[in-house]
Amino acid sequence: MTGPSAGGTTLTLVRGDITAQHVDAIVNAANSSLLGGGGVDGAIHRKGGGAILAECRALRASRYGRGLPTGQAVATTAGRLDARWVIHTVGPVHSADEDRSALLSSCYRESLRVAQELGATSVAFPAISTGVYGWPMDDGARIAVRTVRGAALTTLTDVRFVLFDEDAYRRFETALAAGG
Ligand code: ADP
Repeated sequence: MTGPSAGGTTLTLVRGDITAQHVDAIVNAANSSLLGGGGVDGAIHRKGGGAILAECRALRASRYGRGLPTGQAVATTAGRLDARWVIHTVGPVHSADEDRSALLSSCYRESLRVAQELGATSVAFPAISTGVYGWPMDDGARIAVRTVRGAALTTLTDVRFVLFDEDAYRRFETALAAGG
């Protein structure tokens, strides 16, 4: 499913595995250690190979000694993935007591900023925080679509959300149709 966005950037929904995308930048739903995990993170490191982890370790040894803070984003090589960069971002763990949606929104915005700093024209996002971090898919989809639609896009002409299953795809479809 494709829908137009502001400024000539196309927002697309893809059903599938994000590691199979051919784009300039693949966004990783990382954890703050940057040293790998399950879900999207595990798949990216498995398929992308050790070069990604080596750069993540170097980031931990330099700029991010205490880990990458929630809501921020940083790029590494994409290793053997069919992409130029992986942009690692740390989503918030969902909380019933505290509204952390600004942090989730920040993940999308910061990833777009890093992608455009690198000159990327295409980027693929997973549904950040909706796996192990427990964010409800409807709300995660709404925040994702709204944030990308509201972002200042310069180099990017192709922004994709890659959804692992039919349910996630449908919920993103609803968010896109609702205008974010
Ligand atoms: P988080 O820790 O931010 O919740 P996860 O990786 O656990 O991140 O999950 C984020 C979302 O990505 C979930 O909806 C999950 O179903 C989905 N997902 C898991 N593996 C992949 C994959 N290979 N490609 C695309 N989406 C995936």
